[in-house]
Amino acid sequence: MENTQNWQNYIRLELASIPENVGLARITIASFVSQVDLTLNDLEEIKVATSEAVSNAIIHGYENNKNGKVIIEAIRQDDRLILTVEDYGKGIEDIEKAMEPAYSTDPERMGLGFVFMKSFMDQVHVNSTVGQGTKVTMEKILKPVKAIN
Ligand code: ATP
Ligand code: MG
Repeated sequence: MENTQNWQNYIRLELASIPENVGLARITIASFVSQVDLTLNDLEEIKVATSEAVSNAIIHGYENNKNGKVIIEAIRQDDRLILTVEDYGKGIEDIEKAMEPAYSTDPERMGLGFVFMKSFMDQVHVNSTVGQGTKVTMEKILKPVKAIN
């Protein structure tokens, strides 16, 4: 019988940096976490955080250049989800500033992507090197509505 106390799963996706793949990433991660019976609210929060991080990789990391690669990894260990979104784009000069609410380097944008990620996930960590790329690591405790069986 399966040991539900030590449940693990892992996926890694490599996507072209085209806007169509934001939705693909979003539904793939939603399917992955749906192996736990989550509330619709938690599921929605994870979907939004995924979309925001992948959109940032495409729009800012690759400046909408379609030749980039976005790597998404999701790990689930028991009730803990670790989600990473990585690009090899231009990187972020000042991470602290970038994460401030309403800060954007694009005047047309709201500067709310990191705000959503931070409010919807339990932890958000950004690693970035100018000229090399950015990796966003997010964690969330998954609270099942009922136990996995
Ligand atoms: P919104 O998400 O509301 O459309 P935004 O993308 O500008 O606006 P955030 O998602 O909060 O806002 O990101 C803030 C800023 O951080 C961006 O304007 C951009 O300068 C920088 N940034 C975020 N992600 C990346 C990335 N992957 N590569 C390079 N720069 C990034
Ligand atoms: Mg954004």
